[in-house]
Amino acid sequence: MKKRFVRFVALSVSFLFVFSFVFLSVGCGFDDAVNKASKNLTSYNLNLNLDENSHTISGSEDVQFINMKDEKLSDLCFHLYPRAFRDGAKVLPYTTLTEARCFPNGKSEGNIVITKVLVDNKNATFSYDGEDENILKVNLVSPLEYKDKINVLIDFVITIPNCTHRFGYYDNNINLGNFYPILCVRENGEWNKTPYYATGDPFFSECANFHVTISAPNTYEVVASGNFINSTQEGLNKKTSFEGKTIRDFAIVLSKDIKEVSSKEGNTVISYYGRNEDVDLNENLQTAVKAFRFLRGNFGEYPYRTLKVVKTPFMQGGMEYPNLVMVSSLLTDKDEINKVIVHELAHQWWYGLVGNNEINNAFIDEGLSEYSTFLFFDKHREYGFSMEDLILDAEDGYNLYMEVFSSIGISVNTKMDVPVNMYQSEYEYTYMVYVRGALMYHYLAKELGEKEMINALKTLNKKYRFKIITKEDLISCFRNKAKAKIIIDSFLNGTCYLDKT
Ligand SMILES: [Zn+2]
Repeated sequence: MKKRFVRFVALSVSFLFVFSFVFLSVGCGFDDAVNKASKNLTSYNLNLNLDENSHTISGSEDVQFINMKDEKLSDLCFHLYPRAFRDGAKVLPYTTLTEARCFPNGKSEGNIVITKVLVDNKNATFSYDGEDENILKVNLVSPLEYKDKINVLIDFVITIPNCTHRFGYYDNNINLGNFYPILCVRENGEWNKTPYYATGDPFFSECANFHVTISAPNTYEVVASGNFINSTQEGLNKKTSFEGKTIRDFAIVLSKDIKEVSSKEGNTVISYYGRNEDVDLNENLQTAVKAFRFLRGNFGEYPYRTLKVVKTPFMQGGMEYPNLVMVSSLLTDKDEINKVIVHELAHQWWYGLVGNNEINNAFIDEGLSEYSTFLFFDKHREYGFSMEDLILDAEDGYNLYMEVFSSIGISVNTKMDVPVNMYQSEYEYTYMVYVRGALMYHYLAKELGEKEMINALKTLNKKYRFKIITKEDLISCFRNKAKAKIIIDSFLNGTCYLDKT
């Protein structure tokens, strides 16, 4: 995600701050990699029906799961992120500072209610589980052995809140991000059940295969992850189907006011979706195309056929999903829009292709996306930014942030590899993960050489494409692993040049 990036200016010692916001915040061979990697992955077949009047979606999800972990499973667990918007939720996906921006029309609730679960066509018992009952726990009658297959059918009703979040309806648009039951990641013999925190992008998922059909009123255009398959008319509704193989998540944006411009780069169609009256459609598409060329040229092939940039109401600058990124329609500054487009597209490599635990290791995908954005602007001076300017700006902002907090006696958590909910504010998270993260990758490039840095990132994408990486995997891609480790650890544990006062 691209956060609203805040620079602090201390006006007095009496806790008064002025915030100036800067948004850092076809050959058959082409599909081979994706097809090959899609084998044995979880498959989700979703059928969704949108009721526009009640803002609800009734749906069913047919999950084909193969136990590829060498352990017996007695249950399967799925995240139910919309439950974070329900009445009585304890862990909220917004803070008191962001609540007004999230709900411009007043507080609104959302939910997902599970109505039925079948396991291999038989009624199964299930419960809401996890820290804040945001998890669907499906009990299996007999343990699922290694390499055994199972089919889980989940029926549900989703209520969409009126808000500008990843999941919400506002103005002419409906954002459907993190809205369906998605399998938790299994680690160290346990399901990762992290709830929907307000800070960062608190998501963690493995690549899977998706077939998604959504029925919505004709007045809506449907933009989604994956490839468009077909659409059929059903009275006043249109049924649209998409297929996405070997992607980490699936998102949809529906809009009543939308205009598409697109361009083909290699085997990928890049589309920008703005509003009908927009005059900057082609300009924004060109930024997306230039970013795509740059990222693919430096970090390796993008193996999917579509990449969609969708302008939609969103409380932050932008949000990444596989094949689809949201860019907030609330942004007005051209530089901010360009930065968000490039940052979100960089996430297609750092999060989409090369995955990581975004809760505990956000410095990997956010830091890399921010650094990739800096690199892009440095090589595209027509946008008016050089690496030198961007780094100086980031260092100044970081140092000022630290000074302001130390002057009022508040200690700052400078650790970069702690869970996102451990940061005491969104500002702290932003400075430690985005700014300190980008500075860390820049420092690595300065010490090891920019060419070596880019080579390491190319290796990372080649070696770990479609997988989940750790800090050690990242370090393993550098030629000088020992030096890379020292530098990365010094940033993570608070002993790098930024920490020397
Ligand atoms: Zn991001």
